[in-house]
Amino acid sequence: MSVAAPAASSAPAVAPSADPSRRAPLPVLGRDVSVPLVTGGEAPYAALDYAASAPALQRVWDDVAAYAPYYGSVHRGAGYLSQVSTELFENARRTVARFLDCREDDQAVFTRSTTDSLNLLARALPADCRVFVFETEHHAALLPWRDASVTCLDAPRSHQEAVASLERALAARDPHGPALVCVTGASNVTGELWPVRELAAVAHAHGARIVLDAAQLAPHRPVSVRDLDVDWVAFSGHKLYAPFGAGVLAGRPDWLDAADPYLAGGGASRRVVRRADGGVDVDWHDGAARHEAGSPNVIGAHAVASACTALTEAGFDALAARERRLTDLVRAGLASVPGVRVLSLFGDGAPRVGVISFVVDGWNSSHLAAALSAEYGIGVRDGLFCAHPLVGALLGGDAGGRGECGAPEAAPGERSLNAVRVSFGAGTPDEHVERFVRAVRELVRDGARWTYRTEDGRCVPAV
Ligand code: PLP
Repeated sequence: MSVAAPAASSAPAVAPSADPSRRAPLPVLGRDVSVPLVTGGEAPYAALDYAASAPALQRVWDDVAAYAPYYGSVHRGAGYLSQVSTELFENARRTVARFLDCREDDQAVFTRSTTDSLNLLARALPADCRVFVFETEHHAALLPWRDASVTCLDAPRSHQEAVASLERALAARDPHGPALVCVTGASNVTGELWPVRELAAVAHAHGARIVLDAAQLAPHRPVSVRDLDVDWVAFSGHKLYAPFGAGVLAGRPDWLDAADPYLAGGGASRRVVRRADGGVDVDWHDGAARHEAGSPNVIGAHAVASACTALTEAGFDALAARERRLTDLVRAGLASVPGVRVLSLFGDGAPRVGVISFVVDGWNSSHLAAALSAEYGIGVRDGLFCAHPLVGALLGGDAGGRGECGAPEAAPGERSLNAVRVSFGAGTPDEHVERFVRAVRELVRDGARWTYRTEDGRCVPAV
């Protein structure tokens, strides 16, 4: 698919606001990128898909660039740059542990992503471990436990219902075997916060452990392992403004040390000997190294640590207060557009991060998202957001795929097949969310100005 760039620029450029309170609190890469509009001209790109991948912080990029000349192997070189790189990698681990307010004996393992972190934990479950999840989880938290015996709980409609539902499920299990609860901190569909501390208390009261999927929480709110009293936390660098391929699993070492290495190979092994019978005996490391076989992603780890430092220095209180203002602005704006329904499990007053999904009566969500991109330079996401059971529950039935482009997927009053998601954060200026609200209002009132067609399952401008 290609969308041709128009020859002449007719859309007015949006100058950075003179009012600092309207600017993004943290500069990100891409803030000056303009994209072609199918209707003519260009617009500054409004990246409103932070929940999928947030842009890199300028600070992260600068820190990575400053380190790059010193890049060397980690844990395996005698040279000076290898020592610098090893030190940087282990410093990154300490920074991440501080960022998560880990306990003294917790360990932080560098992985590739939240998905990778949860799969690693799934491989480290003790025998006969039962796993409890809500059907509302992202697939990364719903699916890795396939070998364990999983209880999938119904989507709760309040914090109290979530806690009571977990309590009932845990009370009904065999109290002697190991158990793990996996819960998200903030939903990637509704942005709503989950009662993690309360769920952790229930889990522990019933002898279970709990892992927090902080993929959507960590970029927006402080995460304290001690305060929430969770056993593990997982998050992804690319959602935390550090898109260099690293993620984190941090928490209790015992299950991880007792498990076979997630990846077998160099770095995970302390000693390897060939047996007389031709086999190989291995003495595996304990600690993070056990699950970090192969050459570590030192740039990714450094980038994550840099983002942790930048967010901590900016202060989550200030970042969250501003994000709440933008969230209120978007929600109020959408509420004023006829036919818009914002998806929510816990209702209007629920605390939430800057992630909002919605459907519009009579609109195909893919069509709306395509028009926002092609006609306004706004990047959002449409679909089921890797949370099929949750989106299905919120839309009232099994969620479907994308509707065919052009024709509305749902007539007024009928249920939509998928949704549009807008998400933002510390790199978002006011103008981006204001333009988004204005664009939705205009599209719903006047219709799209261009025609669109379906190509490879995606809605694209028919150019
Ligand atoms: N958990 C949640 C709540 C998410 O939103 C996502 C990604 O969108 C994931 C887990 C998986 O993250 P990743 O794709 O970085 O592994």
